[in-house]
Amino acid sequence: MRKSPENLLLSEISLLPSRGKKWSVRAAAVFPNSYPVGMSNIGFLTLFARMHDFHQLYPQRFFKNFDVSLEERMPLSAFPIIAASIAYEMDFFNFVDMLRRGGVSVDARQRENSIVIVGGAAVTINPVPLSLIADAIFIGQGKNSIRRIMQVVAENPPGISSKVEILNILSKFDGVWVPAIDKNIPARAIPDDETPPFSEIVSSFSALPNMMLVQIQRGCPFRCPFCATPTIYNPFYNFSFDKIAESFERWANRIFRVGLVGSAIADHPELGNIIDYLNSRKVEIYTSSLRLDRLKPETISSLRLSRQKSLTFAPETASERLKSTIGKDVSLERLIEICEKLSPREIKLYYIIGLPEETDDDVAAIAKDVKKISDALTKTRIVVSVNAFIPKKGTKWGHRKMAPHALLQRRAGILRRLLGNVKNVRLNINYKRRSRLQWAFSCGEDDVANAMLKSKDLNELVKNIRKNRWDI
Ligand code: SF4
Repeated sequence: MRKSPENLLLSEISLLPSRGKKWSVRAAAVFPNSYPVGMSNIGFLTLFARMHDFHQLYPQRFFKNFDVSLEERMPLSAFPIIAASIAYEMDFFNFVDMLRRGGVSVDARQRENSIVIVGGAAVTINPVPLSLIADAIFIGQGKNSIRRIMQVVAENPPGISSKVEILNILSKFDGVWVPAIDKNIPARAIPDDETPPFSEIVSSFSALPNMMLVQIQRGCPFRCPFCATPTIYNPFYNFSFDKIAESFERWANRIFRVGLVGSAIADHPELGNIIDYLNSRKVEIYTSSLRLDRLKPETISSLRLSRQKSLTFAPETASERLKSTIGKDVSLERLIEICEKLSPREIKLYYIIGLPEETDDDVAAIAKDVKKISDALTKTRIVVSVNAFIPKKGTKWGHRKMAPHALLQRRAGILRRLLGNVKNVRLNINYKRRSRLQWAFSCGEDDVANAMLKSKDLNELVKNIRKNRWDI
C-alpha cells in the first residue's frame, strides 16, 4: 500500500538538523525512483545530508511517485535548486518525467530562474543522455565534491544571482560538465574523502528497514569486463576502522542494524575488526555481495558470530569457460561450504545471461549449480536473480552489443524451465524488452540526448531511439 508523506516522515529517525524558519532557498533532492529504494541508496542520502550543511537551504526530497516534496508538499516548480541523484539508467526518463509533472521546463535553455544539477552512478557512466536537460552534470562521486557544488548554489541562489555566473563557477570544478559552456565531457572527479559516507537518516519503510548503511570502501580492486563499478568509483580505497566506528557512534544506541557497503568487502584489511566491533555492540550486520575466493577463515568466524540472516554472492556464471573470461572463479563447493558454516536463512545469488560468447549450455549450467546448492542447503531459501548483460561505457566490454531480445528470452526460458519448480529456490529474471533501454542510456550519444528532450513518454522515447538503429 502506498504510504502518505506524513507516514513516511513519521517512519524516520534522523541526525540531520531540522530547518525551523532560518532558511532562504528551497533545494530539491530528487531520487527518480521509489522512496524505499532512495532511502537505501547511499549516494542519494549523501546528497540530501550535504544539502543540510548550508543553513540557507531548506532541502526537501522528491521521489518518483510523489508530485510534491515530502517535507513541505511543494511542487518542483517552487524550487530554484533541483539536484538529482540518478543511480540507475532507467531512472533517466523518470527524472525527466518528474520535471514535467512538477512544472519545470525540461529544456535547459528555457529555464531562467532555476538550476538543475544531476549526478549519480548512471550519470557518471554516461552523462550524455541528460546533456540537453541538466544545467550542470557532476561526473564522479564523493561527499566533498557534493558539498563544494552545494556551497556555490547556497551562496548564489538561482533567481537572485545570475545563472550564467553560477554555471561559470561550477564549470571550473573537477568533474562538473556544463554542456552549455563546453562541448567536451570533463574527466571524472577523483574523490578525496577520508571519512565514509553513511546514512544520516533511516526509515522503517526503506528497502533496508531501520538500517544504517556505511560505505566501508570505495571502488573495486578487480576489473570484471562487464562491470562499471571501477569506472565509477576507483581508485580503490578502504575507509579506516576508526572512521567507520565513528560513523556508527554518531547514532549512539539508536540503531541496531548496520549494512556494510562495498564492492570487495572481503578485501577490506580490517573487516574482521569491523565485524567484531559491531558484534560487541549487539547490532545485526548485513554485508553486500561477498567474493568467496577472498574470504579469510577469521572473517568467516566473525561472520558466524554475527548470525547474518542473509548472504549475497554474485557468481555471475556457472560455465568454467566464462568464469575464466570474466576473471571470477567462484567455486560451487566453497560456496556451499561457507553457507553450511554460516547457516544463513537466505542466500541471494546473482547471475548474468547474454554474456559475449555464451551458449545455451552455459545457461543450463547455472540451473545445474543452483540445484546442487538447493540439494545441499535444504533449509535455506535461495533467491536467484538473473540480469541480462548490458554493455556500459568505459568498461572493457562497453563496445560489445547486447544479445538480441529473442535470444535473451530463450535463455531466460531455459532457467524458468529448469528452476521454476525447485522447492527452496525463488527465481527472479530481471529482463524484459524495456530493460534494453538501459543499453542506449549507458552507451548512447547525442542521438539519445535529442530523443530524451523531444519524447513526451516512454513509448515515444523507445520509438525515437529505435529510429537511430538501436536494437532496443
Ligand atoms: S563485478 Fe564485483 S568484483 Fe567484479 S569489478 Fe564489479 S564490483 Fe568488482
